[in-house]
Amino acid sequence: CGIVGYVGEQQAQGVVIEGLRRLEYRGYDSAGIALVDRGTIASDKRAGKLANLEKALQDHPLVPSTTGIGHTRWATHGAPNDTNAHPHLGRSGRLALVHNGIIENFAELRAVLEKAGHTLVSETDTEVAAHLVENELESGADLTTAMQNVCRVLEGAFTLVAVDAQDPSRVVAARRNSPLVVGLGEGENFLGSDVAAFIEHTREALELGQDQVVTITRDGVEVTGFDGSPSEGRRYHVDWDLSA
Ligand code: GLU
Repeated sequence: CGIVGYVGEQQAQGVVIEGLRRLEYRGYDSAGIALVDRGTIASDKRAGKLANLEKALQDHPLVPSTTGIGHTRWATHGAPNDTNAHPHLGRSGRLALVHNGIIENFAELRAVLEKAGHTLVSETDTEVAAHLVENELESGADLTTAMQNVCRVLEGAFTLVAVDAQDPSRVVAARRNSPLVVGLGEGENFLGSDVAAFIEHTREALELGQDQVVTITRDGVEVTGFDGSPSEGRRYHVDWDLSA
């Protein structure tokens, strides 16, 4: 439903929660966040309104971090509870991933993973993608290559955004049949399912095309196809009136 990604100089928790609030008008079943913290993922997710997640974060603050992702879920596969809320983690907890849309071939991918010894804890179509991307990382791929490799086996409609605990420098996203926009900042960059996610921070945006992967770092944005070939987004200026 709503997706936010951030890497930069500000505290990611504030930027992500604020972005999710801006996307709140869409309505949702749960909200969650994952931050990269010196080699581990710090994450929290709660069924219900964003206020439930905010309350949980007040009671149990996550560590400071400048790299993070967030999600509000419109449940399609699995009940709207805490376990099915995004982000979803890979087997070792190194990878956190959020998803909008539907992965049509998740059942067969889940069967393959379970045969290989993976235990999936949620009922979602999303969790297979988290396990598959993490597998690629564990085989030595960087997060960008891992995402490209996995997107080639996924069918359906998806916007995916992920972080790797071992690489706080980047957030990687991909899209097919589902929206994804990059917000271009100075010393920081943003990802959103909608420009509303980052409109308070920048009005310079990059719209992604079909079947593209984008890697954001503090100082750069790199776009490729699912096959890794260099590509480009469409740059534009957002001229909404915020007071409207
Ligand atoms: N299909 C996924 C789920 O049910 C993502 C739903 C969404 O777009 O929020 O968890």
